[in-house]
Amino acid sequence: MKLDSMYQEVILDHYKHPHGRGLRDGDAEVHHVNPTCGDEITLRVKYDGETIADVSYEGQGCSISQASASVLNDLLVGKELGEAHKIQEAFLELMQSKGQLEPDETMEELLEDAVAFAGVSKYPARVKCALLSWMAWKDATAQALSEGKTA
Ligand code: ZN
Repeated sequence: MKLDSMYQEVILDHYKHPHGRGLRDGDAEVHHVNPTCGDEITLRVKYDGETIADVSYEGQGCSISQASASVLNDLLVGKELGEAHKIQEAFLELMQSKGQLEPDETMEELLEDAVAFAGVSKYPARVKCALLSWMAWKDATAQALSEGKTA
C-alpha cells in the first residue's frame, strides 16, 4: 500500500467517525471560517489548571478540515498546555513544509494520526483546511487564558 493512500484512509476514517465531536461545556468559544473552501468550525476549550480537559467542536466543510478537528481532539485532550503547544508547532511545521518534510519517528510519536496530513502540505489551498481547527484552538486557548480561567 502506498503511503499516500494509507494517509488518505486515516483522514477519511476521522472524517466518517469524528472523535469528540459535539459542543460541550467550555471556558471559551470561537468560530473560525476558511472562506476559500467554505469550511467552518465552532470550537470550545475547557481547561483544568494547565491541563486541557476538553476540546469540543461542531463544524462543516471538506473532509480535511473535519478530520483535522477530530485528530486535534485526539491529540490535545488530556495534555498539558506546554506539550499541546509543542504538538501544535510540529503540526504547523509539517503543514508548511510543502510536501518536503518526511515525518521522522520523533514527529510520528508527537503527531500520531496528524502525520497523515503530510501529503496535504503539497497543496497550499488545502493547508488552510487542515489548519482551521488548530488556529481555532490557539485562539480559544488565548481567550481562555486572558480571562484567567486557568489561573
Ligand atoms: Zn476545506
